[in-house]
Amino acid sequence: MAAHFALLIDPAPPAADRPDFADTFTVIDPSAPALSVGELSTQRGDGIFETIGVVDGHPQEVTAHLERLAHSAALCDLPAPNLAQWRQAVARAATACPAAGEGAVKLILSRGVEHGPAPTAWVTASVAPDHTPARENGVRVVTLDRGVDSGASERAPWLLLGAKTLSYAVNMAALREAHRRGADDAVFVSSDGVVLEGPTSSVILRFGDRFVTPATGTGILHGTTQMSLFEHLRATGREAAYETVPVAALARADAAWLVSSVRLAAPVTAVDGRELPVDRELTASVNRYLLSPRD
Ligand code: PLP
Repeated sequence: MAAHFALLIDPAPPAADRPDFADTFTVIDPSAPALSVGELSTQRGDGIFETIGVVDGHPQEVTAHLERLAHSAALCDLPAPNLAQWRQAVARAATACPAAGEGAVKLILSRGVEHGPAPTAWVTASVAPDHTPARENGVRVVTLDRGVDSGASERAPWLLLGAKTLSYAVNMAALREAHRRGADDAVFVSSDGVVLEGPTSSVILRFGDRFVTPATGTGILHGTTQMSLFEHLRATGREAAYETVPVAALARADAAWLVSSVRLAAPVTAVDGRELPVDRELTASVNRYLLSPRD
């Protein structure tokens, strides 16, 4: 997703209570150099981000994304972001997304330049790739050991497992490994055999009428798409629960999806080469919901 719009943000302190932050935004050329070579985001992946889906110009689930940005900032000891300022930056960037069709707004907050005075912050806008094939035909996944047990995030919070940090090299390596194994995507599992998440998605399983997602607290991101979908499922009379999901349960699921903000719900067609049933009708209705305006 190449950005065609970028806005540099002069981060305001969280207490700055003002109606308009427009003078803290600078539109920059997304194809021109903009960051200092001393940036810790590029030197160490030291920063956090969010990717927000934009449908027909409407940025989806902005509050949930901003709350997770604040949560990631706290886990990384970054200065608390001024959420009113970020909300205005998101609204500004969303106007650069297609008025009809899908786009994405990415928020980045880095620790800034080494020994510098402040974090560096920017947002970008891009046109989303066409994810219809994954939504309709699904994805084949392989399980990959994340190499840590399900208690690691509590025992070793410095691993930042529940933060959406810029250090996604491991997640990208997992995707490449999945491709090498002939799959489209991966599902991380803990070394003690618990289902975690995809490298860029949350996992949702269906057992009969019950929908289940792995409990947070095991070092996974709390997905905004999964949260929104659970709200929708409960509002339509379905049971949806957070549980510890043993790896063996994947084979027993009646259906499974990888869900995320831009690709939305991709049905899982096979796990480690074993076919899973695909509920096309339910998947289509879930994606219709995810494409409707959501706040
Ligand atoms: N887990 C990981 C590791 C992710 O990178 C993502 C999204 O990129 C998700 C889960 C899903 O989060 P969301 O639904 O908020 O996009």
